[in-house]
Amino acid sequence: MIKKGTLDISWLGGLIPYRSIPVLVYHHVTETEREDIRAFSISPGRFLSQMRYLKKKGYASISLDELANIEMGGESGAGPGPKIKSPKTKNLFAISFDDGYLDNYTNAFPVLKLFGFKATVFLATGFVGKKTQPIGSCAPSAHMDWPQAKEMQRHGMSFQSHTCTHPDMTKIGVEQINRELNESRKEIEDHLGAPVRHFAYPYGRFNERVMERVKEAGYAWSYAAGASERSSFARERFDVDTEDPPVLFRFMASGYGSWVRTVRNGFLRKRF
Ligand SMILES: [Zn+2]
Repeated sequence: MIKKGTLDISWLGGLIPYRSIPVLVYHHVTETEREDIRAFSISPGRFLSQMRYLKKKGYASISLDELANIEMGGESGAGPGPKIKSPKTKNLFAISFDDGYLDNYTNAFPVLKLFGFKATVFLATGFVGKKTQPIGSCAPSAHMDWPQAKEMQRHGMSFQSHTCTHPDMTKIGVEQINRELNESRKEIEDHLGAPVRHFAYPYGRFNERVMERVKEAGYAWSYAAGASERSSFARERFDVDTEDPPVLFRFMASGYGSWVRTVRNGFLRKRF
């Protein structure tokens, strides 16, 4: 038996390759020179070529409900939810958009329709139909309105919660957390008439306290911005950035991106 603290080789188990369904996350889909949103933007041309690649390779898009059904029932993992299961089916992926920018409707939606892909938009309901100017940015960004969301919904897009006011959930009190979770869901359900069961953390920031509240509020699943511990209450997603080389996108789509990220993190943390 290995004495704790002398040699921990438990991370070696993580070397066994596993596949997971990639959940891609985009923000703006627009051509921009703006420094403040460049890191969160992808050009429409790049988006089109990514979707064309997925279609050509026979990938099928799934909704987050379908994702949850496939992954439900895994063994217990970190956080309040079950640990996610590896999929049996190859070449599935999910697309998500955070914040509900107008360019998702004008630039991404036509491409999604063209290839018959479904996607999920995480709305901050206080931004719908408005222009917002995030702290540190130099110009406001427009958001889609409810009729545009409704039109996207008719073509297979789903709308889920990203709070009302887009706060850092780890920095607000429990009452506001509950308000952000409950009121945003009610507003989306009232406008679009479909159940809201998924939640994405603003800025990808969460902790145990926030995760518990999300679960108690009745959400089935919630999403981080990057890596997570394979928990359904901080489901991993892959940020797709303008600067990424196409080979990185192909790799993320392959389903092995999560495994490599886990190995790399485990290796860096535990090697020395
Ligand atoms: Zn956001």
